[in-house]
Amino acid sequence: MAYKVAVDAGHGGRDPGAVYNGRREKDDNLALALEVGRILEANGVDVEFTRTEDVYDTPYEKAMKGNASGADLFVSIHRNAFPTPNTVSGVETLVYTDEGMQGDVARAINENLASLGFEDRGVKERQNLVVLRRTSMPALLVEAGFIDSDEDNARFDQDFNAIALAIAEGILDAVARPGGVYQVQTGLFRSEANARRLQEQLAEDGFMSTIQNDGTYYKVLVGGYDTLEEAREAEGILRDNGYETLIVSS
Ligand SMILES: [Zn+2]
Repeated sequence: MAYKVAVDAGHGGRDPGAVYNGRREKDDNLALALEVGRILEANGVDVEFTRTEDVYDTPYEKAMKGNASGADLFVSIHRNAFPTPNTVSGVETLVYTDEGMQGDVARAINENLASLGFEDRGVKERQNLVVLRRTSMPALLVEAGFIDSDEDNARFDQDFNAIALAIAEGILDAVARPGGVYQVQTGLFRSEANARRLQEQLAEDGFMSTIQNDGTYYKVLVGGYDTLEEAREAEGILRDNGYETLIVSS
């Protein structure tokens, strides 16, 4: 069974979340959640979205949706706000208790986002948040910068794809790799530099890959996947993105 992540876009519908100069948190949350989910799916993770449209559910309903999906991890996407605009900026990730896997993933996400220039405000414990308290699996809530910070908004818009990748990578590092006997080979090179170039291109498109050297050739591999069906699904997405593919098994 593939690893499953519930991806929750915070707020929605009649609940806009924080609003700053007409910019609504619910819209940023949804766009980012969908992109994080897309990257996770491209890397063989099953994704359950709590919403894919501008609709309202209570945090309790969202937590229950996550629980019913049987997800292994619950990730809620939000943006932060402060009473006085443009005084605070940076990213933080909230957990019910900072321990175990959820603490590790939270820290990895913060570090990845900090590498894009965000201030890392740390991992913080919150006992009063329903999506952290009522979920039955490890859960975290990412505050992807302050929506009332012009600086954070500029970075959010300019580096949107890199931000989604940073969050997805924090999750994938912890849960999805290596694993699986099937992989999708996207390149075979004599030159390591060429293999690295393809790996960078894949990363820009949201695919995690590894490079395997058999003494003569450098193989660029995406995955592991537990079943051939999952590998075929990932292969289809890679082909849609213009990659040449070959399914291999280890
Ligand atoms: Zn929020």
